Amino acid sequence: MHLAVFGGTFDPPHNGHLALCLFARELLAIDRIVISVSNNPLKQTRGASDSQRKHMAELFAAEINLTGTTCEVSGWELEKRQPSYTVDLLHYIKNLYPKAGITLLLGEDSFREFPLWKEHEKLCSLCRIAVFRRMTTEKEYLTAATDEWKDLPENVTFIDFSYPVSSTDIRELAATGRSIENLVPPSVRRYITEQGLYRK
Ligand code: ATP
Repeated sequence: MHLAVFGGTFDPPHNGHLALCLFARELLAIDRIVISVSNNPLKQTRGASDSQRKHMAELFAAEINLTGTTCEVSGWELEKRQPSYTVDLLHYIKNLYPKAGITLLLGEDSFREFPLWKEHEKLCSLCRIAVFRRMTTEKEYLTAATDEWKDLPENVTFIDFSYPVSSTDIRELAATGRSIENLVPPSVRRYITEQGLYRK
């Protein structure tokens, strides 16, 4: 079995996350996806609570499951109630699925900070890493991280991907009452409306 781990704050999960997971499934032959909801250290005053973010991640996982993938949500990072590190998450997942191969899915913006991550070299020995290029809303790619890296670890793959949407965009649209239709899965959109999330 090959497992993908996809972590984020998911405040809220959006169609960029959805496209990335489905693209990874097709391209990397993933059998199962674990969505890990992380603590949100930069939590904004208008952001969703931990339980609301976890609930939205579960709605998001259910949408993926409709397409035939097995996708589950882990609240392990949230339960720790302290800064969590990807290397510790990977150890935890490895214990749960000792026989599985693991690929960590990352957006390019997250990967830029990779050299600063706790035990990042160790992390490379625990999993493959798939980095998805990320287009900004100005429809430009960030400078390719590959250009900046001299010793890119062997098991890191860059994947061309262009889906210029972010949770920040969604929060800003929702704050001013503009439509977020087609930017988030329908069940997530309904939940945002019901809970009055991100409104000023
Ligand atoms: P925010 O705008 O609040 O920073 P976000 O849209 O980056 O949120 P996160 O939950 O922080 O969403 O992202 C989880 C992971 O998904 C990160 O690795 C991030 O880089 C990646 N990601 C999110 N949106 C995209 C996208 N449109 N294209 C490629 N990667 C993405």
